[in-house]
Amino acid sequence: MAKRLNGQALAARYETSLRTSVAQHLTTAGCPPGLAVVRVGDDPASGVYVGRKAQACGRVGIRSRIIHHPATASQQEVLESICRLNADPACDGILVQLPMPAPLNARQLLLAVDPAKDVDGLHPLNLGRLVRGEPGLRPCTPAGVMALLAHGGIALEGIRALVIGRSILVGQPMGIMLQQANVTVTVAHSRTRNLADHCRQAELLVAAAGQPGLVGAHWVRPEAVVVDVGIHRVPPPRQGTRATLRGDVCFAEVEPRASHITPVPGGVGPMTVAMLLWNTVQAWQQRCGVVGGITPVPLPR
Ligand code: NAD
Repeated sequence: MAKRLNGQALAARYETSLRTSVAQHLTTAGCPPGLAVVRVGDDPASGVYVGRKAQACGRVGIRSRIIHHPATASQQEVLESICRLNADPACDGILVQLPMPAPLNARQLLLAVDPAKDVDGLHPLNLGRLVRGEPGLRPCTPAGVMALLAHGGIALEGIRALVIGRSILVGQPMGIMLQQANVTVTVAHSRTRNLADHCRQAELLVAAAGQPGLVGAHWVRPEAVVVDVGIHRVPPPRQGTRATLRGDVCFAEVEPRASHITPVPGGVGPMTVAMLLWNTVQAWQQRCGVVGGITPVPLPR
């Protein structure tokens, strides 16, 4: 039976470390770290995510605010909000909550964020720094996966990995981060032929296709490490019951076959939020000239 890589518990440890660092450097910095979330429209899932991020900020001492535009807002109005936040000294991090309703151009909005405040790590400058292996703000979800693997004691050097998905948000930066950890990486996508064969060769499988239950047990090599990035809301089966979440992996059948596995919920999701907090505190420290960085979360021996 696979060991579970518990993102909920690890995220709590990251929060403890961040809370300590914020408290330690508050006097030197003169003000707490600030995160602004730019949200447009009323997508209910976005509402839930934004609320969770705001609560997590509160737990570590980050001052958060939500700039909520109606779905009818123009590109210009949202751009002006971002420009105001770029110039605002009380704002260290700007998160543009995706997806943006049509016809807004999310790519142009992300480009407008000051790279020093780009806590999602999606600005071309920060993605370029990632490719070059230079310090910078890293995309939160793949950074969260790397932290889960490190704290799970997974030896990455020289192993063979398959990442399913090639989005800028997850798949592409995930592939780069794994390569930088000396993993031999294949990135699969919707045009990949014989996906099951690629999966069966992988010692590490990262599923980020956005396809519920795509990966079944027969696709997984025995003793593989399986990371499930997918999040899908399953509506309640009948009135009076609750909606549930599931991932891209058939958890119940893969768990007995894998060596390690991330659950959904409680795996990658909480670590994505933890990395957003980490990036915000890092951006705050950079802006305020704080020396010493963030207290690291100790790795297992
Ligand atoms: P996306 O739709 O932008 O990209 C999906 C990628 O998967 C594409 O590159 C596509 O080519 C590939 N793909 C789709 N179907 C495939 C198939 N059948 N076989 C092989 N490849 C296939 O999605 P995204 O933004 O990268 O997100 C992926 C999933 O991760 C979604 O379920 C999303 O909700 C979830 N997500 C979770 C977190 C988290 O914190 N856990 C964060 C971001 C995204």
